[in-house]
Formats: sequence, structure tokens, C-alpha cells
Amino acid sequence: MSAIVAIVGRPNVGKSTLFNRLIQRREAIVDAVSGVTRDRHYGKSDWNGKEFTVIDTGGYVLGSDDIFEKEIDKQVELAIGEADAIIFMVDVETGVTGMDEDVAKLLRRVDKPIFLVVNKVDNAQRAQDAVEFYSLGLGEYFSISSMNGSGSGELLDELVKALPEKPETESELPRFAIVGRPNAGKSSFINALIGEERYIVTDVAGTTRDSIDTKYNRFGFEFNLVDTAGIRRKAKVKEDLEFYSVMRSVRAIEHSDVCILLLDATRGFDGQVENIFWLAQRNNKGVVILVNKWDLVDKDTHAVKEYTRKIKQAIEPFTDVPILFISALTKQRIYKAIETAVEVFTNRSKRIPTRKLNDVMLPIIEHTPPPAYKGKYVKIKFITQLPTPYPQFAFFCNLPQYVREPYKRFLENKLRDHFDFTGVPVTIYMRKK
Ligand code: GDP
Ligand code: GDP
Repeated sequence: MSAIVAIVGRPNVGKSTLFNRLIQRREAIVDAVSGVTRDRHYGKSDWNGKEFTVIDTGGYVLGSDDIFEKEIDKQVELAIGEADAIIFMVDVETGVTGMDEDVAKLLRRVDKPIFLVVNKVDNAQRAQDAVEFYSLGLGEYFSISSMNGSGSGELLDELVKALPEKPETESELPRFAIVGRPNAGKSSFINALIGEERYIVTDVAGTTRDSIDTKYNRFGFEFNLVDTAGIRRKAKVKEDLEFYSVMRSVRAIEHSDVCILLLDATRGFDGQVENIFWLAQRNNKGVVILVNKWDLVDKDTHAVKEYTRKIKQAIEPFTDVPILFISALTKQRIYKAIETAVEVFTNRSKRIPTRKLNDVMLPIIEHTPPPAYKGKYVKIKFITQLPTPYPQFAFFCNLPQYVREPYKRFLENKLRDHFDFTGVPVTIYMRKK
């Protein structure tokens, strides 16, 4: 589980420029928010081997100063609630503004690591000008240029030092995170699952003060439900609710082995649900999709088939994912849901002996070798599963750079055909031998 770092600040100070620098070539999750806000972005970053999630809380492209001000308050409040550390960015070109002072006032009361970052310090003159930001009362600041990267190393050194450490002992039990949009029925599902009495065995302290694993013993399975303190936080307006839910999902997903993704059958597998799905996939977590509130759907004979087809279309090419139709209200198939999540957990921790892997895969490769590329023939000699917590395979060959994406997908599908990896992202690497 990695910590969450939020970048806050006025529009145009350079938040997204820094964000892009931090995540480098990795893909960001875009949380498109309607109205005055620019999209929020989530991405993974790492520094000195420590991984963390960065959130660019968005800029505000439209509206008057009043709107900016209101939105910024909200942005900061959200960051305060959910992040492990906050980067507060200001702009040396404009100097201290009233809005900066307002944000600083909010942040001064916060008991979390705050990094005041003066951006656009592209040259020595500007380094002199940055001194005025001491007046914000946040102490020492970092001068950086998001554009050319100067100063960002020093910032990152201090930032990762301030982030919470990973726990010493990770539980061997499956860790399930119940994720989804607000009102999908997550609480109802958890209640249906664990019952009124709550079959709590023990509380295991989570990685950060905000998150907790709770151990359950139910239906003959033992598992941890990944919960976050934020879950009970009540948001004031709808947009915040959605934001909380994504933040919460980011945190819960990272802390889990398997994500149980709930959606409301009457609303469908929409863009927000899809975002959460890809978040789980990119974090190499197992996934089970539960179409909840199935009791509300007019079911003809094709309903399940049609629904399944639509979801699979949206999650191409990672379609080897269980999709179940449940009702938290009537408790229909909730046992099956947990059973499936346990199976996915098993698939994710599966280790294929090297001998067996090669015995199965080498004849397939011999029969259908990688297509020649630029007149070169690729010879795959040996395959091994990497010692990672989730399935990753290295295919050793003479010309790894000539193996293209479609062939890797072919290999992945063959692995899935022969060894059950349902619900689990599989990564294929071509390595030089
Ligand atoms: P955001 O609205 O806070 O996300 O700001 P952006 O990242 O979109 O940047 C706003 C503008 O500032 C863009 O035109 C950037 O190119 C520019 N900018 C960002 N970082 C720097 C920097 O370090 N130096 C200079 N000179 N310009 C920058
Ligand atoms: P959460 O925000 O994802 O935790 O969603 P809740 O569990 O609070 O549920 C939102 C609403 O959907 C509540 O009114 C629930 O009673 C209702 N609900 C949840 N699951 C089901 C279901 O399976 N069938 C029906 N008909 N309603 C449900």
C-alpha cells in the first residue's frame, strides 16, 4: 500500500506540470468532474524505491474569483481529509496572493506533513524572490521548477521521508476491498456479508492511521475486509461524495489483494466504475465484478448474457474477470461472491513450477512462434515466473525488443488457458538471454 500525496494550489501555479513530472511516463487515472473543475488526476510515482500515489486535485478553468475561492477551500479540505501528505504549490511569478494566504491559513491547522513548494523558480533571480513566501507562516519552503525539474529531487527526498512506512507483517489472509461508486450498495453488501453481529475476530492495525484491516470468519472463509476511516465521512455535496469515493477507492485498492467492485445494476458499468476497475488492474490486484441490486432488474432470459457482454466490452482486453449478479438486499449470491473472491485470491498467489511452465508453453511457442520483425526471428528459450506477489512472467529470448504487444497478449491468453488466472492481471516481460 502506498501513501497518498495531494497537490493543492491556485490555478496555473503548475500543479499538473509537477504531477506529470512525478508520474513520468506512467498513465494517470482521469476523474472527469463536471462543472467548473478541471479533471482530477491520479497516478503512481516512486522515489528512492518508495512508491506513492499522487493526486493532482484539479484546476479551475472557469468562473470568477469567488468561485475559485470556494473551490479551492473544497479542494484543500478534501486533501486534508484523505492525503498522507500535502504539497501546497505557489507561484513565484505572481508572488503571494490572497488566495495563497487563505489556503495557508487552512493548512496551518493541519496535523499532516505539508510541503510548501514555490514553483517556476527557473533561475537565480527567482530564487531570491521566493523568500517572500515565508510570510505564509508555513516555515521552510522548497524552490522548484516543475518545467525543468530543478529542485524536485530535494523535495522528493523530504517528501518520501515523511510518508508512512509499510507495515512489518503483512497478513497472509486474503484482503478484500469493497469498492464502487457511492450508492452502489457497498455498505449493504458488507452488512449482508458480516451480519448484524459482525463476525469480527480481531482488528489488525493498518498501514496508516486512517486505514484498518478487520478480520472476518464467514462461510468457512477467513479474510480481511479493508476498510478506511474515510468511509464514514459524510460529504456535503454530491461532487465531494464522488471525490471521496474515488480517494477511498485508491486507498482501499492499494491496501488489498482482491477488489470486489460493486456496481448498481440500474446504473450500469459507467465511466466512473471503469476508472475504479482500471485502478485495480494497474495496481495488479485481483478483481471480481458484482452487479448489485439485481433484484431491481427486469430479467428476461438474455439479461445476464447481455449485461456480461457489455461489461466485457468495456474491460477489453482484460476480460478474464468473474462477473456475478447479486442482491445485497435479498442476499442473493453473496456467498458465491465471497467464494469467487477467495478463488481469485488463490489465482493471484499461484506459483507455476518452472518445469511445468516450460513443458506447457514451449511447445505452444514452437507451434506459433513470434512473427518475424524487420526480418529478424525471435527465439524464446526459457520461461520463468517472477517471485512477485502477483503473476508476472519473464520470457527469455534473443531479441526481446522485437516481440510486439499482440504476441504478448497471445502468450498471456495461453497462460490463462492452461493455468487459471481468472480475475488476475498477468504481466509478461520479454528478457534478453
Ligand atoms: P495548474 O493549473 O496549477 O495545474 O498549472 P499547470 O501545470 O497547468 O501550469 C500552468 C502554466 O505554468 C503552464 O503554462 C505551465 O507551462 C507553466 N509552468 C508550470 N511549471 C512551470 C515552471 O516551473 N516554470 C515556468 N516558467 N512555467 C511553469
Ligand atoms: P454505498 O454508498 O455503496 O455504501 O451504498 P449503500 O449500501 O448505502 O446503498 C445505497 C442504497 O441502495 C440504499 O438505499 C440501499 O438500501 C440500496 N441497496 C443496496 N443494495 C441493494 C440491492 O441489492 N437491492 C436493492 N433494491 N437496493 C439496494
